[in-house]
Formats: sequence, structure tokens, C-alpha cells
Amino acid sequence: MAHPFSFGTLCAQPSADPRTTRPHQLPIYATSSFAFEGLPEGMQVFSGDQPGYLYSRFGNPTIDAVAAKIAALESLNLAGKATAYLLSSGMAAISTLCLALLKPGEKILIPNNLYGGTNELFAKILTPMGYQAVIGNLREEAALRRQLQADPSIKMVYFETPANPTLSCIDLQMAADAARQAGAYAVVDNTFATPYLQQPFLYGAHFVVHSTTKYLNGHGNSTSGAIVGLDEALMKEKVFPALKLIGTNCSPWDAWLLENGMKTLELRMERHCSNAMQIARWLEGQPEVAKVHYPGLESHEDHQLAKKQMCAFGGVVSFELKGGAAAGQRFVSGLQLCSLAPTMGDVDTLVMHPASMSHLRVPPEQRRAAGITDGMIRLSIGIESPQDLIADLKNGLGRVAKGRRI
Ligand SMILES: *Cc1c(COP(=O)(O)O)cnc(C)c1O
Repeated sequence: MAHPFSFGTLCAQPSADPRTTRPHQLPIYATSSFAFEGLPEGMQVFSGDQPGYLYSRFGNPTIDAVAAKIAALESLNLAGKATAYLLSSGMAAISTLCLALLKPGEKILIPNNLYGGTNELFAKILTPMGYQAVIGNLREEAALRRQLQADPSIKMVYFETPANPTLSCIDLQMAADAARQAGAYAVVDNTFATPYLQQPFLYGAHFVVHSTTKYLNGHGNSTSGAIVGLDEALMKEKVFPALKLIGTNCSPWDAWLLENGMKTLELRMERHCSNAMQIARWLEGQPEVAKVHYPGLESHEDHQLAKKQMCAFGGVVSFELKGGAAAGQRFVSGLQLCSLAPTMGDVDTLVMHPASMSHLRVPPEQRRAAGITDGMIRLSIGIESPQDLIADLKNGLGRVAKGRRI
């Protein structure tokens, strides 16, 4: 069943208020519970015989309307419909999904370059609880199939594409097929790409998770996450009870901020992508830069794969400075417009020097194994005028060059 509207229209239209059609924009239902006309209605709703709201941890019109929009965006070009839930953060989405789907003793297969928080969740929380995460090679079909075949206790294959910090990609179709055939769930963190650039369900993923804190909100003013699934029964019978009983639900305020942000998702993503492409090409020509990582560049090792499964290449660009950690520190100290902040996906440009910020306490050899060199800089390119961004990056590179001469 095709949706009657296209991506940008779906983003821009107010999410339907399930209770009334009068407010033009979706209201914030700042209420923890919902009143009943009388006992008969209360009994009907509690028993599930009649749809209705009870208590905001179980469901809330603001939250449900925004979740429905994300489900529609992720399944836009699909025959079937997706179901989505909003959660309090991306981490809440990932942890809730794992606890909902897996039993202790079952394993999660992951690549070695997941988002830092996800890695820590698997290593410090889930593995001690009996849900062991094992690192595998998700870039090579034969290796992946061999590992899945050798260990039938692997019940989930979990990955990001593109992934931090080198923007390396995983073949969605290949990894989802291998997981499916081994009887494991294929779960994709689609935070970097958003459903505008990439729809993992088209390639056979079972579940998509998001840190909606990033591009979907886009304005850096709320924290939330989403779980999206194609199997409605599994979502209702396994994922929803976990969310409700662990209490990882989103708040109506954060859902409302997300709603506002998503209205411009298409416009923002187009600008993020065109700015990032221009900056990546410019960086490639700078003498202080040893290497640029951006899947839109022909020089990126996964350019062909990214072209196959994404419609553009996203807003994150990382690059390596020739002078190592000292050059990285000099570069960020020379910037005036770009902010040093450990997030991404905002409308303004954000910079990170992983070796002195997010990965400061990670031993250097472990950092290097994940592709993070000491001179690496990660840019989350905003929607500013590209000439201003390039001028500011020149400020940073100027500081690097001056440092080298001293
Ligand atoms: C930020 C992020 C997360 C975690 O999301 P929070 O909203 O911070 O909990 C998970 N995955 C990726 C790829 C992220 O960038």
C-alpha cells in the first residue's frame, strides 16, 4: 500500500492528533494519565477492547503521533507499514530493543566501530547480564556467514552504516540476508543517514533504531530515540511491553521538539549533504590534510556501496591532519564559527577532535584499531553558507601551518 505523499510532504505536514482535528499543530499532551467518562469506558480501555489512552508511560497522543511519522518515513517506499515507538534517548532505544528480543545466553554480532555509547552498553551492561556481544567482520559476506553458521547462539546482527569516524559502510542487503538466513534479527542504527538518505527496510532489515537527538530533531534541543519495526506483532507483543515496563518512554515535550525539527528534515538534509560534499572536496586539496573520509568522495573505499544504498552521503566528514595530535589541537583552537561539541546533526557546524575529546581515555593502540588517528578531526557540517564554513576551516588550517613552521 503506497503512501499518498512524498518524503518532504510527510515531514512538513503536522502529525495527526488522534483525539481531535481542531488544533492546526500537534499539541503537547502534558498529562501523565487520561480520564474516563465512567467505569464502563475505563474497563473497556483497560481490557484492550476499546482503543484509548490510560497513562503516558503506556502511550500519549503527542508521542504516538510523532512515532507514527517516523514509521511512515522509514517505510515510505515499502509495500508494508512499519510500527515505531519513541524512547527517552537513542541508548534507551538500543537497550530496550535488545532486552525485548533476546534471552540471556543469546549473542549479538557487532562490527568493531560502533558508536562509543553502544559499545559500552554491550560491554559493560548487556554482556555481564548474559547478552554477549561478539565482534565480527560484517564487511565480508563469507566471513559473516561463516561466523553466523559457527555460532547458532547469535540471534542479532547489529550495525551502523555509515559509521563513525571513517564513515565506513556495510552492505545492508548482504548483512540483512545473512542474518535472516541464520535466524538472527538484522538491526540497523540509521542515525547518521536518516530515512531521507537510506531506508534499511528496503534491504531486509528487521529493525531500525535512531538517536533522534541528532538529525531527526536537528536543532540540538532534546534527547530522544526511536525503535522502528516491520513486524507489527513483534513490536506490540515484545518491544512495547519492554519499553512500558522498563520505563524508557519518551516525554511529550521531547516528542514535540522532535516534531518541530522533523518538519524541515528534507531541506536540512539536502543542505547538510551539499555543504558536506563541497567541504570534503575542498579539504582534499589542502596541503595540511593527509586524508579525507566522506562516502561521497570517489576516493572513499565504500563510495560505490554508499551510492547503491544511499541517495546522498550525509553531513559528517572526517579528515586526518598530517601533524598528529598537536595539529588537531591547533586546528580546533583556530576555529571561530564552528563549535566544539560532542554531538552531531545540528543545524550549526560542530567539530570534534576524538583523540582529545570522546576518545581521550581510550588507549592509543585501541583508538588506532578503530581507525581514529591522533590527527583526526570529525566535522558535523551544518546548514550555514558554505563559504563561511570554508573560511573558518581555513582559520583552523592556518593555525596548523603556523604551528609547523615554529
Ligand atoms: C548519539 C548516538 C547514539 C546514542 O543516542 P543518544 O540519543 O545520545 O542516547 C546511538 N547511535 C549513534 C550512531 C549516535 O550517534
